[in-house]
Amino acid sequence: MRIAVIGAGIAGLSVAAGLQRDGYDVTVFEQRPEPSPVGAGLTLFRNACDALDMMGLGDSVRAVSGTDIASMRTGQRDPAGSWLIAVPPSTVASMRSVHRSELHHTLSSHLFPGTVHAGQTARVAADGTPRVTIGERAEEFDLVVVADGIRSTNRKVLGLDTGLRYAGYTAWRGVTHRPVNIGGEAGETWGRGQLFGIVPLPDHRVYWYATANLPAGTDFPDEHQAVRDRFAQWHAPIQECLAATPRAAVLRHDVYDLSRPLETFTRGRTVLIGDAAHAMTPNLGQGAGQGIEDAATLTLLLRDVDTSELDRALTSYSDLRLNRTSTILHRSRTAGRVAQAAHPVTVSLRNTVLRLIPGRLMGAMSQRIQHRPCPGPR
Ligand SMILES: Cc1cc2nc3c(=O)[nH]c(=O)nc-3n(C[C@H](O)[C@H](O)[C@H](O)COP(=O)(O)OP(=O)(O)OC[C@H]3O[C@@H](n4cnc5c(N)ncnc54)[C@H](O)[C@@H]3O)c2cc1C
Repeated sequence: MRIAVIGAGIAGLSVAAGLQRDGYDVTVFEQRPEPSPVGAGLTLFRNACDALDMMGLGDSVRAVSGTDIASMRTGQRDPAGSWLIAVPPSTVASMRSVHRSELHHTLSSHLFPGTVHAGQTARVAADGTPRVTIGERAEEFDLVVVADGIRSTNRKVLGLDTGLRYAGYTAWRGVTHRPVNIGGEAGETWGRGQLFGIVPLPDHRVYWYATANLPAGTDFPDEHQAVRDRFAQWHAPIQECLAATPRAAVLRHDVYDLSRPLETFTRGRTVLIGDAAHAMTPNLGQGAGQGIEDAATLTLLLRDVDTSELDRALTSYSDLRLNRTSTILHRSRTAGRVAQAAHPVTVSLRNTVLRLIPGRLMGAMSQRIQHRPCPGPR
């Protein structure tokens, strides 16, 4: 079976590697001239790691990621550094952190040379016929997998788009260029309408992220200075992390999610995965994880099928994935509202509740998302 994948992000590379490993003839089209993107860090929870294992990719991702956070105190703090809630170590025991470019590189290394065609902007057929058009050239496949990200143009071509919603806040991200001693404490610090997150990377560098409620499209002449100023009075080692990050390595993106979950992930022999299917806010750290789950589910459902069984497998994929990803999309949005609360009364109430609820309850909620999601091998 010939399969086209549009987009060489985490979801596209994962499904391409999984399907190629199972013997399918896979071609990946990526619009960027350089397949490997810049980027900061990423956390992967147990569900993502289980899904990578199902595609035979887990060991190599484990080799470039770390679990340092498992031995640290983590949860939510206030800007002065007092813990609002600390989650039990079991919640983060299997959480891994990785530099995005290393994850991309590792996933790409599973593909045969020449699989990724960079600098190729691909368009699907509106009726779901498995055809990819690049410029004036059209190529037929047995299946097209659309993994072209949150601003998927192909989702629109297929008539499946529900539009994007600005979440009301922007996010800076960075990775320190040298190790920073974070004193065995990681996690998030929640203020009024802004937060700061600290994640240890395997080489003792630190991946950090910061958010602030701002109108969409706000511009800063110097992003590095903007984030330093905004968190100037917050607890250590926030300023140390920012000082150890080169100015050019600070990224910022306004945060969007899908305004409504899609009604289906398939149209004919064309199927959506990753952010193209279910872009969500980053508050649960599940966006890429869900894209990897999509990839594993599709890979398992397509294992040993021939083209006559394809339609049934695609319907199963859509049914299996819609419910779970819609639930996580909504939960992530709610988590974002709580984390980004700005009114002093709401923030005071939120912080009081966090101080009162047992960390194990918070841990149990997170564990429910991390349960093994994919159908077993056929
Ligand atoms: C601040 C922030 C923090 C986050 N933290 C986490 C985290 O800790 N854990 C986690 O799991 N998730 C996290 N996420 C979410 C995660 O980054 C995304 O869910 C994930 O990267 C999406 O991967 P993807 O492959 O679906 O899409 P993308 O990574 O967007 O890849 C899409 C690819 O398709 C290409 N493309 C687009 N259009 C075309 C076309 N027409 N033809 C060919 N190629 C095309 C693009 O160039 C791109 O390479 C975070 C997101 C944000 C914003």
